Amino acid sequence: MENPTILYLVVPCYNEEEVLDKTAGVLRDKMRRLTQAGKISAKSKVLFVNDGSRDRTWQMICAWTKQDRMFAGLCFSKNFGHQSAILAGMMAARKKADAVVTIDADLQQDIEALDQFLQCYEEGCDIVYGVRNDRKTDGFFKKTTAGLFYRLMHLLGSETITNHADYRLMSKKALDALAEFQETNLFLRGLIPTMGFQSDIVYFDVKEREAGKSKYTFKKELTLAMDGITSMSTRPLQLIVILGFFTFLVSLGIFVSCIWDWAHGRVVAGWTTTVASTCLIGGIMLLSQGIIGVYLGKVYMESKGRPRYIVESMILREEDEEDGDVQD
Ligand code: UDP
Ligand code: MG
Repeated sequence: MENPTILYLVVPCYNEEEVLDKTAGVLRDKMRRLTQAGKISAKSKVLFVNDGSRDRTWQMICAWTKQDRMFAGLCFSKNFGHQSAILAGMMAARKKADAVVTIDADLQQDIEALDQFLQCYEEGCDIVYGVRNDRKTDGFFKKTTAGLFYRLMHLLGSETITNHADYRLMSKKALDALAEFQETNLFLRGLIPTMGFQSDIVYFDVKEREAGKSKYTFKKELTLAMDGITSMSTRPLQLIVILGFFTFLVSLGIFVSCIWDWAHGRVVAGWTTTVASTCLIGGIMLLSQGIIGVYLGKVYMESKGRPRYIVESMILREEDEEDGDVQD
């Protein structure tokens, strides 16, 4: 091919010192093989995004960038979360790359699937989604909650692709379109499928984490799921209206029956009914207010228009630069 694709791999890293050296080695080998096969340009790079790690992750990234120009690094001023890390990486990479693939730092996602990603790209796809074949490597809890989450997302009308977790290729064209989205509440898995473009799916096997522990705590997962639902759909608000309507109908029935009893001189000893209905209605009201509150909070955060992340420094060495030259 005349002009092979300039491919950037964007790798978010949060406290990944245990696995980073191994990951960098594996990614470098794969990139070299692809370059030698003429599938990607020699200008292709691996861009690590340090998401405010508290361990030696950034020092290790710096060391790799000094060792090999193939590696580049971007450092956040604090932990902004996985979604922000991949967004920052993609936004930085789109200025240099023809296509960008985001992949986790723990080598769970099969790097060999890159060939298929590239093939789909060559065939004209602007977005290629990596979808895991099964969830064998997940624990029971994660498997169940993840299944539930995707089902709920579909129920709420989101176009989320089941079992696709941010292992994806995007062309420069698609990334330029993504850059137009300014929302603070970021849920890329839901947002990107709404963008259109020619796209395809590549299936891959998930492996065990090479080293270290999962960086997604239960709290982070819950936040992601909540963000996913509330940033992609306002259906929970509609459900409140429906719930309110049915509660109203039931109350009307109870009201009519009370009047009826009163008119016929039947006095109800109604302690249980009173307590039960007060609790039920109180619960429904609180839940509904809570849901409205969540959306209000989102509107509040969006209205501030704060930056989604802060980049503290960046290291990217161009091919024509002198050795040792570092661009901050
Ligand atoms: N990650 C991140 N910021 C965070 C949490 C995670 O950049 O706040 C990165 C992490 O380093 C990894 C990827 O996101 O590269 C996926 O995280 P992990 O493998 O821990 O999640 P899991 O595979 O268990 O869902
Ligand atoms: Mg992982």
